Amino acid sequence: MFFRGHYRWFSNFTGGFVDEYGLRWKTAEHYYQAHKTTNQYLWLEIFESPNGKAAKHLGNALRKSGNQIPEWFKIRNAIMLKALIFKFEQNPAALKLLLLTDEIIEETNTWHDNYWGNCICAKCKNLPSKNVLGKFLMRLKKRFLFQINNAVTIGCYSTNAVVSRKNVASGVFRGRSIRSRLKNITCRFVNKRPRRT
Ligand SMILES: [Zn+2]
Repeated sequence: MFFRGHYRWFSNFTGGFVDEYGLRWKTAEHYYQAHKTTNQYLWLEIFESPNGKAAKHLGNALRKSGNQIPEWFKIRNAIMLKALIFKFEQNPAALKLLLLTDEIIEETNTWHDNYWGNCICAKCKNLPSKNVLGKFLMRLKKRFLFQINNAVTIGCYSTNAVVSRKNVASGVFRGRSIRSRLKNITCRFVNKRPRRT
């Protein structure tokens, strides 16, 4: 699936969030790209870039200019996963899309990215693809479903007490659709202000 239209919330270019330091990121792409460098000027340039596309462009130039941290390929998965957790915890539309998507999530693309997704161009068509982003999203879905079923607070969203561990254990929710469970999700503080440093 292409991460646009109905699936646009799966795109790293869609959906901002506040991180653990109170910084408000415009997109997950900004967060991911900025973590490639320890150069504060380049970091700030990425942080302040107007959209995910611009952030990606700046981030991709870091390697060539010698400003990408050497251990980047060891930590990039962890950075991506953190960005996704922040994003899906803080964007109700993204969380709903994730929980209501039953098909296998695959990041289909045409820009030859067979690591995070699967490029379908003529050149890449027969190459193996890892679809790491798609797999991360499916992992997150499982994590959030567990939290919902056990009435654990998801970021700023808290599941209604109706969806309690006891109710799940006693089978109250057996057979109920995820859609009906989602009605019990309420948001406590969507507009939490970031602490600027
Ligand atoms: Zn390709």
